[in-house]
Amino acid sequence: MSGADGTVDLVVVGFGPTGATLAGLCARRGLSVVVVERDAEVFPLPRAVQCDHEVLRILQELGCADRVLEGSILNDGISFLTADRRTLLSATVSPTASTGWPSSIFFHQPTFEAILRDAVNALDVDVRTGAEVVSIAQDAGGVDVRLAEGAPVRARYAVGCDGARSTTRGRIGTALRDTGFEESWLVVDLVLTDDVPGLPTRCLQVCDPARPHTLVPMPAPRFRFEFMLLPGETEEDVRRDDVIADLMSSWIDPGRATVERSAVYTFHGLVAGAWRDRRLFLAGDAAHQTPPFLGQGMCAGLRDAANLAWKLAAFLDGTAADTLLDTYQAEREPHATAVIDAAVGFGQLICMLDPTEARARNEALLADYRGETAVPDFIPPLVPGACVGPGGGALSPQPRVDGVLLDDRVGAGFLLCTDTPVGPGWRDADWWHARGTVLDARSVPEVAALLDGQEACVVRPDRYVLARGGLDEVTAWTRAALGGVVPV
Ligand SMILES: Cc1cc2nc3c(=O)[nH]c(=O)nc-3n(C[C@H](O)[C@H](O)[C@H](O)COP(=O)(O)OP(=O)(O)OC[C@H]3O[C@@H](n4cnc5c(N)ncnc54)[C@H](O)[C@@H]3O)c2cc1C
Repeated sequence: MSGADGTVDLVVVGFGPTGATLAGLCARRGLSVVVVERDAEVFPLPRAVQCDHEVLRILQELGCADRVLEGSILNDGISFLTADRRTLLSATVSPTASTGWPSSIFFHQPTFEAILRDAVNALDVDVRTGAEVVSIAQDAGGVDVRLAEGAPVRARYAVGCDGARSTTRGRIGTALRDTGFEESWLVVDLVLTDDVPGLPTRCLQVCDPARPHTLVPMPAPRFRFEFMLLPGETEEDVRRDDVIADLMSSWIDPGRATVERSAVYTFHGLVAGAWRDRRLFLAGDAAHQTPPFLGQGMCAGLRDAANLAWKLAAFLDGTAADTLLDTYQAEREPHATAVIDAAVGFGQLICMLDPTEARARNEALLADYRGETAVPDFIPPLVPGACVGPGGGALSPQPRVDGVLLDDRVGAGFLLCTDTPVGPGWRDADWWHARGTVLDARSVPEVAALLDGQEACVVRPDRYVLARGGLDEVTAWTRAALGGVVPV
């Protein structure tokens, strides 16, 4: 797969969820990919527990979404409670999203990552575990990645998916912008010894100013508690069996569970200033970190991977300009930042320790409480202008066509939908057929939902709508987007 001089298209630093997804999506698009990962095995302890339908759709492309779903449970909603367990807010998550996947699921991250790695290992990807990157240097022709042991790797591009303490980010030399949110929480993963009655089947945020805490259901036999540290408390104070037993005792008899692990994390909202330096990119936690109140950190990393994979592939196969690669940060940074800001907002609501402020919050929310609502959609569309034209920026719906999910029919390329068949003599037919699939709503009525009343709709390979409008107009927009220049 590598060039005659041993240069590969892409080296991915880190085989966490972001790196694995990026490697898999790029390999499926024909790129030669090497992954280098410091650890020999998947990080054994759960961090992420929730992902959304967009993540499942990304995993669909890697062929492993159904396996992830099998080992997961559906998330049906979230409730915010007072210390005496009155409901402040309560919202239902709809079972299925327009992407054709469950809106939100709870899973066990090591199992999730093992499934993802199996999917990547089944592809033509050179995965080197136990390989720590110690330096990265780039020149006009490529990137040299040196390992603590073994031969260095030379690639045309490198992406640092190497987590919060990213070596690659250090090499790019960019600073992290800080939202100012900083709270330490004790995270406790339990293995239940039997079917413990009374535990919630949905996520609970208990807004108790004496000890804000969170309960998260996980696939059996696990369950998670998270407890905020109070001012002056240290990790040594709270990571003790007797303290953990006491903290959870109002919800569960500690004798009916064993602690699989406990850890204290400081939750931040951080975004790197530069996600690209010529041939080097950042993705996932290396580029941004969010407090986990919305369960979106890993989801953002997988969105990065989906956004970058098709752009790298299009540039490397010569169908797009280098400037398309700059639209990666232009699109992903505001998106990730908006989600982090929303998570910080939720965090501030939950992490309120001042009893007077907490009372005022409770009074306001209780007065407004009208029962269960739908979970608000805090995931924004992509910013128009970077690589998105008129009517574009939203994640496209995914209907089933003859029982098959649309993406499986379309494959990894673009999708052009039209309201009528385009004639064989149409001047752009070859251009489109070289870049993906053309479907018309007369022959495939299910795609009418994508048109939203327009003559044509273009869906990008990462399943975002690039543009809707007249056929010539969306074709012009797509050409411009691949050139990295979108007409204003
Ligand atoms: C308590 C908690 C709860 C969370 N809950 C959720 C949730 O519900 N939903 C959600 O979406 N997210 C959640 N997250 C966030 C989620 O866990 C992370 O965002 C996600 O794991 C980041 O994935 P990543 O691949 O970018 O980085 P990581 O998972 O950190 O992977 C980075 C990889 O790079 C490797 N690496 C690092 N340096 C080097 C080097 N020099 N050479 C080679 N390899 C290297 C590491 O060994 C690691 O395998 C939570 C996080 C925490 C802490």
